[in-house]
Amino acid sequence: MKPVSAPAHPGPEHGSPLSDTDIRVRALETLLTEKGYVERAALDAIIEAYETRIGPHAGAQVVAKAWREPEFMQALLQDASKAIAALGHVSQVGDHLVAVANTAATHNLVVCTLCSCYPWEMLGLPPTWYKSAPYRSRTVKDPRGVLADFGVTLPAETRIRVWDSTAETRFLVVPLRPEGTEDWTEAQLAAIVTRDSMIGTGLACLPQGA
Ligand code: FE
Repeated sequence: MKPVSAPAHPGPEHGSPLSDTDIRVRALETLLTEKGYVERAALDAIIEAYETRIGPHAGAQVVAKAWREPEFMQALLQDASKAIAALGHVSQVGDHLVAVANTAATHNLVVCTLCSCYPWEMLGLPPTWYKSAPYRSRTVKDPRGVLADFGVTLPAETRIRVWDSTAETRFLVVPLRPEGTEDWTEAQLAAIVTRDSMIGTGLACLPQGA
């Protein structure tokens, strides 16, 4: 009688919050990029494409609405999960979304120091850099340096507040509304709200030449 071989993987009792599929995908991604079979940039491009369908336009719409409607802004800052559920966006069960609004005095920056927790329902898939060890560690130690890498320079007196995401609590940054957009429609406003501006590594800016 042949011995029964051990299972190929330890199963759900391995203690990771990730599913077996997630773990396999991550292992494959790491191996393939380390061995040079795929480029991280190519993976980023795929993720980027995916984002144009499911991604940050949802968050951008929420931000644009909040800019135009003070009552909605208030509701969003009070309980973002509830406010976005009222718009028909569905969060994962147990997820708690927190919206933090930038002001002239405070700039908010989001990271997940542990792994890559991210408000998928609002921003789609996280970019590769968000999951990288340098971003996760440096954002806490040197947020201003990280912002400089992204081309964002804030006034010295602006405080930078870093938010550490968890599996239960995700953060959405409401960027500052640019001046000169007072009579813009929600769609016009949503068009200038970038993914990075909702992570805090970017700003919402008027289009070039506007
Ligand atoms: Fe995480």
